[in-house]
Amino acid sequence: MKIIIIGGVAGGATTAARIRRMDESVEIVLIERGAHISYANCGLPYYIGGVISEREKLFVQTVEKFSAQFNVDVRTESEVVSINRTNKTVSISRIDGSNYTEQYDKLVISTGAVPVRPPLPGIDIKGIFTLRNVPDTERVKEFVDQTKPQRAVVIGAGFIGLEMAENLHARGAEVSIVEMGSQVMAPIDFSMASLLHQHLTEKGVQLYLEQTVEGFERTHEGIKVQFKSGDSITTDIVILSIGVRPETHLAREANLAIGTTGGISVNEYLQTSDENIYAIGDAIEYPHPITKQPWLNYLAGPANRQGRIVADNLLGAKKTYEGSIGTAIAKVFDMTVAATGLSAKRLRQMDIDYRSVTLHPSSHAGTIPGRYR
Ligand SMILES: Cc1cc2nc3c(=O)[nH]c(=O)nc-3n(C[C@H](O)[C@H](O)[C@H](O)COP(=O)(O)OP(=O)(O)OC[C@H]3O[C@@H](n4cnc5c(N)ncnc54)[C@H](O)[C@@H]3O)c2cc1C
Repeated sequence: MKIIIIGGVAGGATTAARIRRMDESVEIVLIERGAHISYANCGLPYYIGGVISEREKLFVQTVEKFSAQFNVDVRTESEVVSINRTNKTVSISRIDGSNYTEQYDKLVISTGAVPVRPPLPGIDIKGIFTLRNVPDTERVKEFVDQTKPQRAVVIGAGFIGLEMAENLHARGAEVSIVEMGSQVMAPIDFSMASLLHQHLTEKGVQLYLEQTVEGFERTHEGIKVQFKSGDSITTDIVILSIGVRPETHLAREANLAIGTTGGISVNEYLQTSDENIYAIGDAIEYPHPITKQPWLNYLAGPANRQGRIVADNLLGAKKTYEGSIGTAIAKVFDMTVAATGLSAKRLRQMDIDYRSVTLHPSSHAGTIPGRYR
């Protein structure tokens, strides 16, 4: 059997490794558009901030090591440009412009997600970045190293936005966070977010909540970030982290079913509408175990778990995926913020009955040093 996996980072690399651990004979081809595989996305903001000082530390694996360890045919700088479901082939375009086709028995799509970059006026001005992969990170780091920005604006206060705010602060910039909603970290309730608001303000971060960015302009003072409200701030660097959307281009072109939230539709075995094609990770939608509604969950843990389930199913098992309730933990300066399941505000929106309790305990007993609060 020959299995082709598209995407070589969280979900894709896990699938390949698990297949090999379970079966020595299967032919595995891992195709990745970028130059790196199986790296830790979560470290990228910390490399920019200098917390991770060595670039090599970002990479969990090298192509050579992974290929040798797992006997996987890894093809980096190679993009799958189309899937032919009738012939069971994929067309691959190499970075040098050459093309070829490759036949598969089973195919796994783990193409991830792409950052949202709205077509706002001035969005292409130098100094405005999104962060998704290693090349994005290198671009931001080079800019910060070379220009040493005194002022930074982070648009979007999700966990990547907050991590970037902290890391740009660590590089000496005065940081402002601009957020359309009334709080940072949408998955948590306002009562928890307000603690973060206070903490961020204490650290000198300016918060612009309920502000929508309308466009950017290069002035001689820097990049002017214009809000719909009429206000504006001027900065040296902008990080756009207003969200991502599933990378479903290939699946759509191949007429695989796409769900209501825009992710690839899969069944409980993580099979797409074509039984020979599985899909995992940021690119899929799956019913939320509490709401039973399809949702998109952009986290590495579920991508890895789905990869292991798919590997087993490819080898004949019938394992089902139970879904994820989106457990996430982030460090925000000296605080740790964590969420799991659904917030009270979301439960209210969904008309689901709930109880809520707010506690203010210390992080540990006061007799032991380093207690928070
Ligand atoms: C800065 C940052 C920090 C993060 N921090 C955390 C964290 O702390 N905790 C956490 O749980 N999650 C974190 N995430 C999210 C996590 O990285 C993703 O949820 C996870 O990587 C999803 O796995 P995936 O396999 O679906 O996609 P990815 O790991 O993104 O891999 C998709 C790969 O597919 C490749 N690809 C796409 N299309 C093609 C094609 N046509 N041909 C060939 N290759 C293709 C892409 O180049 C990409 O490398 C973070 C993400 C970012 C960007």
